[in-house]
Amino acid sequence: AKANPHRRTEFYRTELCEQAERQVALTKLLRKAVSRHQFRAYYQSKHAVDDGRLTGYEALIRWQLDDGVLVSPAQFIPVAEETGLIVEIGRWMLGEVCRQITEWRRLGYAFGRVSVNISGRQLTDPEFVTTVAEIIGRTGVDPSDLELEITESWLMVDPERSTEILQALRGMGFKLSIDDFGIAYSSMNYLKHFPVDIIKVDRSFVRDILTDRDSQAIVSAIIAMGHNLGREIVAEGVETRGQLDMLRSAGCDEAQGYLFSRPVPPEDVERARRMPLRQ
Ligand code: C2E
Ligand code: CA
Ligand code: CA
Ligand code: CA
Repeated sequence: AKANPHRRTEFYRTELCEQAERQVALTKLLRKAVSRHQFRAYYQSKHAVDDGRLTGYEALIRWQLDDGVLVSPAQFIPVAEETGLIVEIGRWMLGEVCRQITEWRRLGYAFGRVSVNISGRQLTDPEFVTTVAEIIGRTGVDPSDLELEITESWLMVDPERSTEILQALRGMGFKLSIDDFGIAYSSMNYLKHFPVDIIKVDRSFVRDILTDRDSQAIVSAIIAMGHNLGREIVAEGVETRGQLDMLRSAGCDEAQGYLFSRPVPPEDVERARRMPLRQ
């Protein structure tokens, strides 16, 4: 049968309406979740590429529904960013991670540095730096125990403004990283100016590093350039021994991914960390 363009438009219109309705329903649920703090922090370990020792964790948020089901951030962070709810969710998350760090310190666990994802929408909120200072003051966490991960795409929206905010955060003692590096439009010139300590190579390059010469060339170039600028390089999404070996020969500093561990609840971190770290 011949395609009917009108019917197709009709179809898309229905799709769009359903999508909008879902969005409204999701926003309502998310608002409720925010007021009830129905979120959890999971932790994924990071490791030195040369000998595999633990160097820290990345905290990743999950939305816990009433029945215990966990919703992945990919499903609600975009809506949270659009509605501005991310500001409050992000504040909860940073507070929770700081609470966890104090707890792990009290228990004497060696956990390295913990990184937290910061949405650009949070970063550009006029209250952000004050909020962060308040959380640090309240929990007594040493900012150098924390790393703030900000995606390259957000930094590039307003690079001058981003640089100022990053400078303020760095002045407070936080480690900073550029997340998902390599996929956004980015200017090498800005990279030089962003006051960050760490560059995180996006998973899409790591995934193809053994099969695609271009991905391999890009990863090698990012590592070389990053090192020349005095930055550390972390590769995300490392799933196989082969990928790790390739990253090691390219000189990558740290790696995280399913090869080492999936993101796990804090109880699982504690089980593993009761033993002191090998120095
Ligand atoms: P991201 O910051 O790039 O985090 C890495 C994502 O890759 C995580 O997904 C992690 O579970 C997943 N991952 C880690 N290792 C592997 C691997 O070896 N293979 C594969 N296939 N995946 C791996 P997750 O936890 O679903 O988070 C998705 C995204 O949601 C994050 O991407 C981040 O952009 C965002 N996000 C998570 N937590 C927060 C948060 O607290 N605040 C904000 N603003 N965004 C967050
Ligand atoms: Ca991240
Ligand atoms: Ca990332
Ligand atoms: Ca990513």
